Amino acid sequence: MSSDILLSVQDLRVAHGSIEVLHGICLELQAGEITALIGANGAGKTTTLSTISGTLAPRSGSIRFRGSDITGLPTHQTVGLGIAHSPEGRRVFSRLTILENLELGAYVRRDAPEIRRDIDRMFEMFPILSERKAQLAGTLSGGEQQMLAVARALMSRPKLLLLDEPSLGLAPLIVAKIFERIRDLTREGISVLLVEQNARLALDVSARAYVLETGNIVLSGVAQDLLKNERVQSAYLGE
Ligand code: ATP
Repeated sequence: MSSDILLSVQDLRVAHGSIEVLHGICLELQAGEITALIGANGAGKTTTLSTISGTLAPRSGSIRFRGSDITGLPTHQTVGLGIAHSPEGRRVFSRLTILENLELGAYVRRDAPEIRRDIDRMFEMFPILSERKAQLAGTLSGGEQQMLAVARALMSRPKLLLLDEPSLGLAPLIVAKIFERIRDLTREGISVLLVEQNARLALDVSARAYVLETGNIVLSGVAQDLLKNERVQSAYLGE
């Protein structure tokens, strides 16, 4: 195994109840890159992220992160090891303020002065959150809530950010802003596994990508090459 592989998923099978939805998938993520996972509704993208972060346990298969076996570890342990999950649907704590949401994002950390510094960094990254830091998160716009969800995930100082549908329901300008910030993350050494319905957007920002169809990986490769792939173009790019 090459030393710059951050995450390696082997033969992962996952079921919801008695119904298997991932049928033995394999993925490898290189450190410092954005990797996209694209696929239609119900393909199993969210299930993949939830199994990596530990909210779901697999039936079989293995997940290795930075060389250690993390298969089946609960979320508080995967967060502690450096995996943060920003779930679909801008899930923020709506009755807490922006500032309180960010503080909760750092719940596994004990370094108060560093936490303060990181909150300031999030406010630099997303200035709109700074202007509204005392506002209840539930009263923010959709785009602002999405920014807060990403910022909160980053407060755990992850090595790997699992990002589920950051563009969902947002205006193109807001999406562009969020994706600019996501690109910046890789410059700081944070790797991203990006789940996106918008395949063009995902392939444009990613180095590599995997295509998931009904629980199987059917294609993978360099993102720019997949943009030119006929199957990807007709199924996901509307060409
Ligand atoms: P989308 O793009 O629509 O979010 P997805 O690729 O993320 O889809 P998943 O959410 O992983 O797909 O769902 C994969 C399959 O598992 C779907 O058929 C879905 O109905 C089913 N599923 C997901 N969550 C559950 C659950 N909690 N209980 C039962 N079935 C589930």
